[in-house]
Amino acid sequence: MKNLLSYIKPGVLSGNMLNKIFYLIKKYNIALIAINCVDTNTINSILESARIYKTIVIIQFSYSGSCFFINSNFNELSKHKCSIMGSILAAKYIHEASLFYQVPVILHTDHCVKENLDWIDNLLKYNKEYYSSFGKSLFTSHMIDLSNHSLKENLDISCYYLNKFSKFNISLEIELGCTGGEEDGVDNSNISIRKLYTNPKDIVFAYNKLIKVNNNFLIAASFGNTHGVYKPGNVVLCPKILLNAQKLIKNNYSIKQVNPLNFVFHGGSGTNFNIIRESIEYGVVKINLDTDIQWKYWLGILNYYTNNKYYLNTQLGNPKGDYNPNKKFYDSRVWINKGQLNVIKYLSKIFDMLKCKNLINY
Ligand SMILES: [Zn+2]
Repeated sequence: MKNLLSYIKPGVLSGNMLNKIFYLIKKYNIALIAINCVDTNTINSILESARIYKTIVIIQFSYSGSCFFINSNFNELSKHKCSIMGSILAAKYIHEASLFYQVPVILHTDHCVKENLDWIDNLLKYNKEYYSSFGKSLFTSHMIDLSNHSLKENLDISCYYLNKFSKFNISLEIELGCTGGEEDGVDNSNISIRKLYTNPKDIVFAYNKLIKVNNNFLIAASFGNTHGVYKPGNVVLCPKILLNAQKLIKNNYSIKQVNPLNFVFHGGSGTNFNIIRESIEYGVVKINLDTDIQWKYWLGILNYYTNNKYYLNTQLGNPKGDYNPNKKFYDSRVWINKGQLNVIKYLSKIFDMLKCKNLINY
């Protein structure tokens, strides 16, 4: 839908903008992509894609990805400090860079498990100062993932944070059921299959609790989702779970809107396009892609290496002469750029699939 979101200004968006955006994109069965970044090279390729294809992107940082942003050689003792500082610095960079690229960005932190809640607490502490200086929050939204705990505990803690976030216009993403596979040190590879499929009644329970605080939340309800890419047939996705939950909410609360809930699709990598399209029809507004983007980034570099092998194994000497310098080939700017260009090319296809190109016109 051309220029649908042109009224939205470039820069990092505040959490209370999200409901307006999601309301509009759901009407036209559009979804936004959320990409995990770990450094400015990945951030820049995402911002460049958004600029070229005139769309809004969701940039997110995991706990470990934030740590990597500032220090990839951490020792376990300093990892926590690095994660806090890494996400603050990454956010500050994106606030400035998104204005430079002239694109609106939803800035998000990914899965925060119970053991790491102090990460979010520290971000909120820092955010308090940031908010009083700049009148806006560092992040648009945070995800609290207590899917490995009881539904009651999950919602008690989630509601506590949703309430805390509301002072700073920050939205909350929660997880119900569990996302399978392994990501970022959280290993759900061996959990029971039953946990991979959320009971729609649990979604109603969560909605009922959260809506009493406010409506700035998204729900990552699992329907067989798995992080990573596996052998076809290993993962059976059942997006109808989302449809059933939407129907229950509509009936229980007499809501006319086709899809009142905002759903998140975790583990989008390696998923059949038709399943993604089907889930968007049932109210998925945010599709998380991580593994596939990592692969495309690497593939760009691998192809560059394969095509220039004889210029990349020694500092001097290539098919043009024994002492010919290879500096122009191994300069990190050259090969990092190959990864970036391959990501941008891939994102063009993904934006087509999500129907999110040309949402803005500046
Ligand atoms: Zn996830």
